[in-house]
Amino acid sequence: MSARAGAARGHFLISHTHWDHIQGIPFFAPFFVPGNEWDIYGPKGLGPSLREVLAGQMQYTYFPVTLDRCGANIRYHDLVEGTFDIDEIKIATHYLNHPALTLGYRLEADGVAVVYACDHEPHSRIPTNGKLVGQDLRHAEFVSGADLLIHDAQYTAEEFPAKVGWGHSPIEYAVKVGQQAGAKRVALTHHDPLRDDESLDRLLARVGTRLRENGSSMDVFAAFEGQVVEVAPSDGKGSTRPIREFQARTPVTPALAERSAVLGIADAKMAAALSEAMQAEGIRAEFFSGIEEARTLIAKQRALLAMLEHDPPRIDGMETCRAIRRQESDHEQLPVVMIAAREDQAAGAAAGVTDWLVKPFSDAYLRTKLRAWALRTACRWIRGPIPADEDRRLASLRALKILDTEAEDRFDRITRLAAALLDTPIALISLIDEDRQWFKSCYGIKTAETSRDVALCAHVVYDREPMIVPDALLDARFADSPLVVDEPRVRFYAGYPLILADGACIGTLCVFDTRPRAPADPDLARLRDLADLAVREIHGMNAA
Ligand SMILES: [Zn+2]
Ligand SMILES: [Zn+2]
Repeated sequence: MSARAGAARGHFLISHTHWDHIQGIPFFAPFFVPGNEWDIYGPKGLGPSLREVLAGQMQYTYFPVTLDRCGANIRYHDLVEGTFDIDEIKIATHYLNHPALTLGYRLEADGVAVVYACDHEPHSRIPTNGKLVGQDLRHAEFVSGADLLIHDAQYTAEEFPAKVGWGHSPIEYAVKVGQQAGAKRVALTHHDPLRDDESLDRLLARVGTRLRENGSSMDVFAAFEGQVVEVAPSDGKGSTRPIREFQARTPVTPALAERSAVLGIADAKMAAALSEAMQAEGIRAEFFSGIEEARTLIAKQRALLAMLEHDPPRIDGMETCRAIRRQESDHEQLPVVMIAAREDQAAGAAAGVTDWLVKPFSDAYLRTKLRAWALRTACRWIRGPIPADEDRRLASLRALKILDTEAEDRFDRITRLAAALLDTPIALISLIDEDRQWFKSCYGIKTAETSRDVALCAHVVYDREPMIVPDALLDARFADSPLVVDEPRVRFYAGYPLILADGACIGTLCVFDTRPRAPADPDLARLRDLADLAVREIHGMNAA
């Protein structure tokens, strides 16, 4: 459906699908206007998709118009923890501590960072003095340097002890996160429905007094319906995002049913609790005793994570963790969760601990964490980063006027040869456009293009170096890529960059197989020769 002049267009970021967060959707009139275009983003659960969950509340039993009959063109995007872009806005997602799978969002554009963290409960008890630690520290890091933090603040510190496990924060915690993260402004939200405006004002006054006593200039206010907040760049501090990022958008459902977690637990009661929680989430629990058994279990199957109890001298989880790390390759790192009475970050980092679960913990907390850990591992792949010369590269590619042209035998000849010489079922000439990889020639598959996010070739274009992946399932960069876990099920990949005379790297000549393969040197030499031919044809095409 094409957008009419004056039609509305927008994006919705939903933290989770608890009713208080999606109830407005059936009554949002612009969803019913034909020609309007909407994108809705929300966390990918282990069960139904975001679309199915939203459609659920609009079945005829509850509502006269189903989601399918809304009129507007609505697209749904299931998200895991990672990063993605909406136009010029860079968005990072982060799992929050809430009984339902919930994502916080960090938006960065024009030098401004805004973080939305709702609904969220502190992971551990809030220190009255001193700094946030562990998971709460990681939460503050996600907020780091925000110009505006919109944070859950349903309770007060006095009310909170009776509400632990409900998935919401005391105001004091929201303020502490803001302070430790160096946030400029904090909008308190998700107010307790039983609190009136006057009591909110009193709480704010109390917060303000305390901040002034501490010499803080952070602005804390209570968000209200219809409020508009303008944020301007404050100090030009750059983004702290890592260069290699996990992709947050995931079109595939992780097959958790086939996957397991390996556990080294001495405490029988805890083992039973873990086993039950995993079963509820659809993950098989495999217990081991002793390091040798752990090694065998991990080598035998693709585990989602390891959970190790650390309670010396009864059981030494740190030693097991070190042993697990010793046998791993660079590209395959099993997440290891240490269960202990307290976090020892220094020792944990040295041993290779990924995360901590501090005793005692509730069943609900365990399941919240388990879901996040499982999704982190089951839905991760790394998209090819954008090269530094991207604008120039795209200009060179487009000047060729090759994109979306008909297939030509002089290119098909090259892919046919590549497949024959390297003995692979599939060979492609892939050109990396702004948001997609488009195939000038494809041998063995009929797809004309894929999104750039999932393209293995995008890595070759970034590195400007040939890349061989003997087994994509064993490579953390690609193991959960939709092209690997779903059709065409890439296992072996070899790609050679296509570099034009002006230095622009526009794509690859690549082959792939649905079976893993040992890389061979002659393969790369043949691929290089054929890639040279492809570049010559591309230049020839332009001269003609
Ligand atoms: Zn909720
Ligand atoms: Zn809520």
